[in-house]
Amino acid sequence: MAKAIWILNDQCSVTNSSLAAWQDGDLVLMAESKKELDLPFAHQKKTAFILGVNRTFAQTLTREGKPVVYLDFRQSQPDWTQIEQLTRLTLDRQLTEVWLMRPKSWSQRQELELLANSGGFQFTFTRDTNLISDEAVMQPWFAAKSFRMETFYQKMRRQTGLLMDISGQPVGGQFNFDKANQQALKQAPAKHPRLSFKKSPLLLEVLQEVQRYFPHQLGSCDSFYFSLTSEQARRELDHFVAHILPTFGQYQDNLILGDPYVSHSLLSAYINVGLLDPMEVCQAAELAYFRNQASIETVEGFIRQILGWREYMFYKYLTLMPGLESANHLHAHRPLPAFYWTGQTHMRCLAQAITDTLEHAYSHHIQRLMITANFATLAQINPHQVHQWYLGVYADAWDWVEIPNTIGMGLFADGGKIASKPYVSSAAYLRKMSNACRTCPYDPKALAGANACPFNALYWHFIATHQATLQHNTRMAMIVQSYRKFAPEKQAAIAGQAKAIFARLDAGQL
Ligand SMILES: Cc1cc2nc3c(=O)[nH]c(=O)nc-3n(C[C@H](O)[C@H](O)[C@H](O)COP(=O)(O)OP(=O)(O)OC[C@H]3O[C@@H](n4cnc5c(N)ncnc54)[C@H](O)[C@@H]3O)c2cc1C
Ligand code: SF4
Repeated sequence: MAKAIWILNDQCSVTNSSLAAWQDGDLVLMAESKKELDLPFAHQKKTAFILGVNRTFAQTLTREGKPVVYLDFRQSQPDWTQIEQLTRLTLDRQLTEVWLMRPKSWSQRQELELLANSGGFQFTFTRDTNLISDEAVMQPWFAAKSFRMETFYQKMRRQTGLLMDISGQPVGGQFNFDKANQQALKQAPAKHPRLSFKKSPLLLEVLQEVQRYFPHQLGSCDSFYFSLTSEQARRELDHFVAHILPTFGQYQDNLILGDPYVSHSLLSAYINVGLLDPMEVCQAAELAYFRNQASIETVEGFIRQILGWREYMFYKYLTLMPGLESANHLHAHRPLPAFYWTGQTHMRCLAQAITDTLEHAYSHHIQRLMITANFATLAQINPHQVHQWYLGVYADAWDWVEIPNTIGMGLFADGGKIASKPYVSSAAYLRKMSNACRTCPYDPKALAGANACPFNALYWHFIATHQATLQHNTRMAMIVQSYRKFAPEKQAAIAGQAKAIFARLDAGQL
């Protein structure tokens, strides 16, 4: 009997395991959902990227001889989800057997469970080939006990053999070279040229459609640079490994004015949508080490992000949803400041991180973690609004990876179920790791006064506010002690300065 093979928007991979079941007579079904594309804070480039990748992938499958039924957002019900659209397409064709690769999204899993229980279709869920690990093996492990990323990562290194020698020991004698990679910024390196490709007619059409149907979305489609096919994404991977990876470790924690990418790979959007296989990216980096093209510190640091953090985040998401999405452990209730969608703030580091985001639908990890999320945590911004912003503005954002990163790692709104401490800092750290403070109107060394960097007083105000909780965190206890040793006048100055900053924030004057 003919079956329907559903391909979801982030499953555009020729190695999608549901496609392995394709036989003559089967139909591949794909659908766009306006509702899912038009999230709050959605960025035009993200919308264009998803549409461009999906439509191009449908063309590829058709060329391979697999018939594809593709519903674009103009034909579909505007307030239906992808699953609802696919259900309609399947019913219309009187198919009852449905195959699809297990989605990562918690809400899609809920929808599918309801649908499966209603008995209309017979579902077969195939293994998610966009993960290196096997969920069937790993999920029970995560469900049974809580452990940190490093434990998981070492398990994955042993399991995959990545950067392991023949005696089963980590290459270079240790699993983690993070310390060697955290380097203060001495001098900004030259910018790396990045690849971009001629726009296909399909892409030109998509860009026009996005401008016409989603004019209210953030950013613009100008200078759209994303690859839309696996071949193009692979060329970007090769370019990164050959020319940029060698400096990844050295600069991965730096923020450099005027250089939105520094030495980062820009590959997350491609991995997450299926154009690149996470294992092939790790293997390409590993090969660079064995060919003496990049140091162990840099290659291990890069592989850890994908083999460790990316996979770890997925399992934490799976185990902690649905509560994770609405968690607000620190009781933060301020609205997201308007400058998160304009970039108009005097704080140079924030202005750059947000402007880069609005221009490219991308910013690198340190901008996300130590600038936009750090500020949001210190300024007590409502985590749900911050989550919606991250999910909308970044081309690589899908809820399974964005939610644990934002709510857990970025904001500590889960109370430490993902990160072992809040990633907060004053200007001292930012001044060391970036060159933004050199041209900022605020003084990174000052704690109080109109020109004092807001990160300083907000940082100590955060420690003071949450000291009862943070004193029990082994990585924060010493900082709490430092705060408690401040003279009462200094503590009062911090409180007064924080109050003044919140007033300026509310008035749009920061
Ligand atoms: C608040 C916040 C929100 C984030 N939201 C997302 C998101 O929506 N989607 C997303 O893919 N990443 C997210 N990240 C993680 C990380 O910032 C991005 O993966 C990275 O910036 C993507 O750029 P890149 O490809 O140049 O990465 P590189 O710095 O070159 O890193 C290589 C690869 O490692 C993986 N990676 C690195 N760090 C992480 C991480 N913490 N979690 C998962 N994968 C990681 C990505 O696949 C990335 O392509 C978020 C981080 C924070 C702090
Ligand atoms: S002084 Fe403060 S606000 Fe300005 S760039 Fe430095 S850390 Fe950012």
